[in-house]
Amino acid sequence: MNARDNCIFCKIVAGQLPSRKVYEDDDMVAFHDIHPKAPVHLLVVPKSHVDSLADCGAGEGEVLARMLLKVPELARAAGCTNGFRTVINTGPEGGQVIYHLHLHVLGGPRHEWKGTLP
Ligand code: AMP
Ligand code: ZN
Repeated sequence: MNARDNCIFCKIVAGQLPSRKVYEDDDMVAFHDIHPKAPVHLLVVPKSHVDSLADCGAGEGEVLARMLLKVPELARAAGCTNGFRTVINTGPEGGQVIYHLHLHVLGGPRHEWKGTLP
C-alpha cells in the first residue's frame, strides 16, 4: 500500500473515479474542479503520482514543462478569452489539500469568482 493507492487524482487518472475531463495525453489529465472558484476552474494533473511541487526533481521537469505549456490552450478551449490564473498550492501553509501535484487554471469574468484563491 503506498500513497497513490488512496489518491483521488490517481483514481481519476485511472478512470476509477468520475471526472469532467477536458484533455488527456500520455503525461497529463485535465478536468473541471468539482468545487469551482471561478467560471472556469480546471485542474491539470500529471499521470505519474508525485505528492507536490516540493517533491519534484529533475525527473519531473519535462512533464511539468509540458503541463505548463498546455495551460493556455486548455484555458482558451474552456472559454477564457481575456487571461487566466495558474496556481499551484504546495504543502499545508500553501493550502494544498490533495497531495497529488496539480495546477489550477482559473478564468472568466472576475466579478463571478468566489474569493481570490482556490
Ligand atoms: P488544493 O487545495 O490545491 O489541493 O486543491 C484541491 C482541489 O481539488 C480543490 O479545488 C477541490 O475542489 C478539488 N477536488 C477535490 N476532489 C475533486 C474531484 N473528485 N474532482 C475534481 N476536483 C476535485
Ligand atoms: Zn496520485
